[in-house]
Amino acid sequence: MYVRGVGPRVATLLEAKGIRTAEDLLYHLPFRYEDRQHPRALDELKAGETASVIGEIRSAGLVRTKRQPIFEIALGQGAFTIKCMWFNGGYLQGRLRVGQTIALFGRIEASRSTRNLKMIQPQFELLPEAGSDDMTRLLEVGRITPVYESLGGAQLASRWQRKVIFQLLEGIRGNVPECLPEAMLERLGFPGREQALAEAHFPPEGTATDALEAAQTAAQRRLIFEELFYLELGLELKRRRGREQRGIAFRTTDAAREAIRAILPFHPTAAQKRALGEIVADMREAHPMRRLLQGDVGSGKTIVALQAMVVAMENGYQTALMAPTEILATQHYLAARKLLGRQKYRIALLTGSVDADAKRVLRRQMEQGEVQLVIGTHALIEENVEFARLGLVVVDEQHRFGVMQRFRLMKKPNEAEPDVLVMTATPIPRTLALTLYGDLDTSVLDDLPPGRTPIATRRMEAERAGEVWEFVRAQVTSGRQAYIVYPVIEGTKDDQQELDFAQDEAGENLPAKTVEVAKPRRGRPATLFTAEKAAAKVAAKAGPKARMELRSATEMFEQLRAGPFSELRVGLLHGRLDADEKEVVMRRFQRGETDVLVATTVVEVGVDVPNATVMVVDHAERFGLAQLHQLRGRVGRGNAKSYCILMTGERVSAEAEQRLEAMVATQNGFELAELDLKMRGPGEFFGTRQAGLPGFRVVNLIRDKELLEVAKQEATCFVSAPDPEVTETERRRVWEHLKQSWQRRYGLMEAG
Ligand code: ADP
Ligand code: MG
Repeated sequence: MYVRGVGPRVATLLEAKGIRTAEDLLYHLPFRYEDRQHPRALDELKAGETASVIGEIRSAGLVRTKRQPIFEIALGQGAFTIKCMWFNGGYLQGRLRVGQTIALFGRIEASRSTRNLKMIQPQFELLPEAGSDDMTRLLEVGRITPVYESLGGAQLASRWQRKVIFQLLEGIRGNVPECLPEAMLERLGFPGREQALAEAHFPPEGTATDALEAAQTAAQRRLIFEELFYLELGLELKRRRGREQRGIAFRTTDAAREAIRAILPFHPTAAQKRALGEIVADMREAHPMRRLLQGDVGSGKTIVALQAMVVAMENGYQTALMAPTEILATQHYLAARKLLGRQKYRIALLTGSVDADAKRVLRRQMEQGEVQLVIGTHALIEENVEFARLGLVVVDEQHRFGVMQRFRLMKKPNEAEPDVLVMTATPIPRTLALTLYGDLDTSVLDDLPPGRTPIATRRMEAERAGEVWEFVRAQVTSGRQAYIVYPVIEGTKDDQQELDFAQDEAGENLPAKTVEVAKPRRGRPATLFTAEKAAAKVAAKAGPKARMELRSATEMFEQLRAGPFSELRVGLLHGRLDADEKEVVMRRFQRGETDVLVATTVVEVGVDVPNATVMVVDHAERFGLAQLHQLRGRVGRGNAKSYCILMTGERVSAEAEQRLEAMVATQNGFELAELDLKMRGPGEFFGTRQAGLPGFRVVNLIRDKELLEVAKQEATCFVSAPDPEVTETERRRVWEHLKQSWQRRYGLMEAG
């Protein structure tokens, strides 16, 4: 469709921002609104508030200071003025002139020397003068004016967007096709699509700006709902379609029940029983299971998964468990051997470092069904393994893999779809669970095994390290073990950072390796394969100078071994060791042959050594919340009192401060996950975009939590309990719209 004001050149700029169609442009909503109908009076402003004010420029000029030129204006309203300044404001000279009317938006600051208020670096827009064309005046003055994020330089600034979108809306008036059923809109109190779009861009007189800012007007809510509804509808459809495929109806025979019981070394918690019940109920159905098992660190997900695998094996099927790292795969393998030792199953380990001959043998055994349980890393899906009779796949710590990989494990073409159980390392905020895993059914482990005492968590300045080492020695003397974690392998000599689980754009899990992240070259920002490594990222941002001061695993290993821990057995574990070395180090720690393990975040996820009672994280300010929680989860796994000591360097940012405080305040992973999401935003939460998070146009997951629940409910109802008031035409239109939006969003992923 032709849009006035958009030629080929502009179209290219817009496309770079993901705006390809007129519809995209219409869904590019203002990010804030200025009430220019009722502008604030200068004399009622208070320091500390953020406000938009309109006034006349009374004086304007460049003030040269030693450090930089500052452009200053005095904004006047009647007898009152306020000073506004822009650093390095040379570019404003000649642009802002005495006599012009200007709208400003920013924080009101108290002035140190006078009683006057001031604004520093406010956003501004010159208001049209009396002679300007009608439309400009209409859109900018005397109304609630939308302010847009720039779509490319001054040319496509707010003013341009206002005009183009206004004209676009005019042009299609009466012709915007509705995409939600009338009855649904009525029930939810939402306006029609056309009205919603018009009012979200150009709010009618009298709309409360607070409501607009909070995206709480009916118009905005309708558009947000629309986006969420179609997402959830697509996921619901996917979920249902998955369930309609031919799966395996496992039977829970007495033998299976007995086998499940036999492997349990302890009484399951109520939550474990419930989760296993849900999983087994799924497995008994003739359709494939697609289930997510969530639980806090240490809630005992592994044993639940193993029990489910026993059910499958008792039914004569093979099972596979995929872990994100070799260390974890090996650990699961050892655990499975121990728990299932007395059973008749053949268990195998397949990782990248298994040599080629052994792999070949193993592959043949899997193809011929001689191995019942295979545990491995991504090597499992890379080796083109074909199972004779694959019944159940468990994917541990799933988010490391990228969503798309999870079903790639191969079965024979004519066999039924295997069941899939996905486990996450840490709890996921519900909003993300609903969007990212909305096509899965969910089980939650919401309690911890009995006898766990809270982990005492403390912050310590690194200066007091001596006391920490003293404490570690005391714990070791009483028979315990400790971890000491550093953000980098080697700090000062090179620019390498630990990135053991780096993922590339395609979501491939790269083998343990290091990736250079420092030194932004030629002004380009340093890119990380995964933002999950918050520590490395912060280090990269902090620049070379800060990095110089980082204590690193390798150096501290030497220092500690030579000094404070000279009488203890100290081990070193990091991603640059080769797989065999890693395994040896890990096994020694597991067997209690090492007292203190100095490590990087390779021990972050899943490592289970119940005798370890101390987790020291140095440079804790450099780790993300999820990471810290994971690290802390390495202790407190047995019955002994456990400790987590968060040591900090000299410089701790305000955000890091907040993370550390949260760590001390709570041990509830679900709470920490919510906070983490709030602090980092959904994109960063999982680190990578390929984690499958959709790119929303109008939705903000943190803000729109409640609408997400509504949308989820409506989507489920729409599929399962059709509303008699919704006409056939409306339903058809919904499916048609879903197809379009889903295709645009997810490209290849087809809709129903
Ligand atoms: P996560 O959910 O973090 O993967 P794990 O499955 O590794 O947790 O379990 C943590 C620890 O708790 C393990 O040592 C496991 O053997 C133990 N455990 C699990 N369930 C129970 C239970 N019901 N009673 C006692 N200990 C348990
Ligand atoms: Mg686990």
